[in-house]
Amino acid sequence: MDKISKLLHSRIDDSEAYPVVTPIYQSSAFQSNSPFFYTRKNNPNVAEIENAVAILEEAKYCVGTSTGMSAIAMALEQMGPGGTLVVNKDVYGCSLKTFQKFTDKLGIQLLALDLSIAENILLIPADTQMVIFETPTNPFLKHLDIKKISVHTKKLNPNALIVVDNTWATPLFQQPLKWGADITLHSGTKYFSGHSDVMAGFILTDNEKLHKDFCDHRFFFGAILEPFSAWLLKRSLQTFALRMREHQRVTLEMKTFLESLPQIKKVYYPLIDGKQLTGYGTLLFFDMREDLIQHYPEFAKALKLFDTGTGMACVTCMIAQPYSGSHSSLSENEKLDMGLGKGLVRLNFGFEDIEDIKTDIKNAFSIIEKIQK
Ligand code: PLP
Repeated sequence: MDKISKLLHSRIDDSEAYPVVTPIYQSSAFQSNSPFFYTRKNNPNVAEIENAVAILEEAKYCVGTSTGMSAIAMALEQMGPGGTLVVNKDVYGCSLKTFQKFTDKLGIQLLALDLSIAENILLIPADTQMVIFETPTNPFLKHLDIKKISVHTKKLNPNALIVVDNTWATPLFQQPLKWGADITLHSGTKYFSGHSDVMAGFILTDNEKLHKDFCDHRFFFGAILEPFSAWLLKRSLQTFALRMREHQRVTLEMKTFLESLPQIKKVYYPLIDGKQLTGYGTLLFFDMREDLIQHYPEFAKALKLFDTGTGMACVTCMIAQPYSGSHSSLSENEKLDMGLGKGLVRLNFGFEDIEDIKTDIKNAFSIIEKIQK
């Protein structure tokens, strides 16, 4: 045989290698007798992380996608023309833009309600096809009662779908399917990765038909998570509970610390009711004192331990201004409607020494107070 032909067909027999960690299956194609067929359909690394996420979320089915946004798109695809899509008012900016584009195209009414207020749940209309929300919300970390929303909506329309973006709560602290959600989804880019080095999404359900639709959608639209990302996520998930517990401890202590600072008007922290939500970390929002808001850029610059940007749930501290970052795609009116001003600051706490973090924030405030004078 020609050496090139030989080279092309050379493979080691790894069927008895029995590695402790699953290797990366960086293969787009599988032999015709493999259950994986083609990586756009499925792949061993993707199947492995899906199984791990389903265990965490206590869901029957899980589908891994390329990003959190592609998981959201998959959920929206469950709607047909007409009727209403109800969305909670406080929501990630890109999600809102996606809802607007999608409903415009299909002639669906988009209704934004503040569902953290119990009476507003009664405003959900009878022609609702889907209710989609985050809890705690981005921004402001408001608490939405999944059960109340689900019970009321299903009374009006038993076929309506309740979709919860569970990214910020994480399945360690909240399992929406238990409370009446039909679909729960995640940006795996955040807490599951935990190191700001992977893009991923997950969509979970207990409903077999929905699961089949998600698998078909992923295969035909090409939204699968790629094997190396799946492998990295599996690695990260092994320390997920440890990271989250530490994030929780630090976030709680930082809440008390921030509340004691005269430069801060209000700190936003979610309602941990011990039922729906049993814990929380790593992000906090605060309102800066009005006279300091103009100095936000200098404040962010003065911080030595905080990088700027959309990173969150990672091992180092991050600071962001939702107005110009996560919600920059919204119009001025939409921001106003959400109560989103330039003084709202988002902090992600990493694993730096907590006293160093406090000193860093105190120093940055004293620098801008000096500029102010
Ligand atoms: N859902 C929430 C709550 C988010 O905060 C984000 C991104 O910040 C997304 C979804 C989108 O996820 P991704 O960036 O992985 O597409």
